[in-house]
Amino acid sequence: MKIEPIKAFTDNYIWALHHPTQQRLCVVDPGDSQPVFDYLEEHQLKLDSILITHYHNDHIGGVKALKQATGARVYGSVHDNLDFVDEALNEPESIVIFDDQYQFEILHVPGHTLGHIAYYEPHRQWLFCGDTLFKAGCGRMFEGEPKQFYQSLQKLAQLPPQTQVYCTHEYTLSNLAFAESVEPDNQVVKQLIAESQQRRKQQQATLPSTIASELASNPFLRCDQAPVIKAAHSADPAAKHDWQIFATIRRLKDNF
Ligand SMILES: [Zn+2]
Repeated sequence: MKIEPIKAFTDNYIWALHHPTQQRLCVVDPGDSQPVFDYLEEHQLKLDSILITHYHNDHIGGVKALKQATGARVYGSVHDNLDFVDEALNEPESIVIFDDQYQFEILHVPGHTLGHIAYYEPHRQWLFCGDTLFKAGCGRMFEGEPKQFYQSLQKLAQLPPQTQVYCTHEYTLSNLAFAESVEPDNQVVKQLIAESQQRRKQQQATLPSTIASELASNPFLRCDQAPVIKAAHSADPAAKHDWQIFATIRRLKDNF
């Protein structure tokens, strides 16, 4: 079973999920078509399906050209009303791809956008979560409310700890710099910074992450931890509930 990142733009990854035995491919959030066409040709693959997490152009910009050239089946959020989507999805639906090789449960995770969905493979414990959860960070809150975004992140935090987390952007080092500013004594954050710097020096992706790693390092999943609460209170002493701590930390990150 192989999942590889295809680089696009400056810091996007289009995840390429291979069929276990056949020359077939599924891609997640192809913001650009050319890198995917190149990958298909290089590996002699047929594009079978396209999963979309949300409607932002750096996630869907390549879909039409890929669909037109390959006939791939396109999956997306029912909330996003995209005319090229063949199957419009919402929680608690699930889908199968590559006939029935892989199953994905659909999770509705509003916050970055209101219609954002994530794809979770329960038998292999893979999560494709777009711009909702990043390694050591989370997406910007463009459309949602803090309480809603916090609940979406909690939904992902409750997946099994060993779940592999495939997000769309290579924002890890800047996220970790912020995480360290929130929790200067967090040893896991320090260790991840060293590891991630090494990987980036070798031009490797720092992804996937795991839920266990995120629970230990990601300030947006640690809003009940004393150092994170302390950091939030330095900006907003009135923040009380976990989701209010989250809102304050998210605001601090916007200005970091
Ligand atoms: Zn986005």
